[in-house]
Amino acid sequence: MSTDLLLSAQRVMVTVAHPDDAAIHCGGTIARLVRQGAVVSYVLCTSGNRGTSDPAMTSDQLAALREAEQLTAAAGLGVTDLTFLRYDDGDLAYNVQPLRCQLTKLIRQQRPEVIVTHDPFAGLTRYTVCHLHPDHRATGQAVFEAAFFCAGGPLFYPDQITAGVSPHQIAALYLVMSDTPDGYIDISDAFAVKVAAIEAHDSQWGKQPDLEGFFRRMAEQAGARWGLPLAEAFRLMQ
Ligand SMILES: [Zn+2]
Repeated sequence: MSTDLLLSAQRVMVTVAHPDDAAIHCGGTIARLVRQGAVVSYVLCTSGNRGTSDPAMTSDQLAALREAEQLTAAAGLGVTDLTFLRYDDGDLAYNVQPLRCQLTKLIRQQRPEVIVTHDPFAGLTRYTVCHLHPDHRATGQAVFEAAFFCAGGPLFYPDQITAGVSPHQIAALYLVMSDTPDGYIDISDAFAVKVAAIEAHDSQWGKQPDLEGFFRRMAEQAGARWGLPLAEAFRLMQ
């Protein structure tokens, strides 16, 4: 099955654009992996510092609030290793090069077997605002380049090698929000903790009516293709 490498990985890095992306798109999978003994880390490219319609909120206040929410949400899934890169929300597409450098260093330091991130090609066939979010595609692109081309090559960012980290080649990328998922993880026994993690992102989801039902339908839709009650879907890239 295409998710075998993800399910058997001992060290998994989850690199996403915004604080609530991890819980929404792979929270059940993360909970399952942690229960199995895997070490899961988060890299948050932005702290979602523009994600509000409240004119009284400042960018710094929102970033601090969303980082606190993220720490709570992550802890609920068993994740305590978080790196906040703090790029401006919405501007990642203009920062792919420095982001790629930072991600290369983190991959070399943390040495994950598998990375979960956004599908950089999503939205090309199905034009939805969520899929077309520039931060999602920029994150996927930067991770794709860092993981497959840079981290394993000593001539990419050689100053990192000189400073003491070694090249590292991951085994696989798993892409969320993909238009063409080819594998799934059954999250039936992790759905409740996934919903609790999403609820922790109160600034984004606190006003959502029937939040549990909203995400249940999303998990049912993902699982229907494989005959599962509740699932998260992934696209494998090797
Ligand atoms: Zn997002």
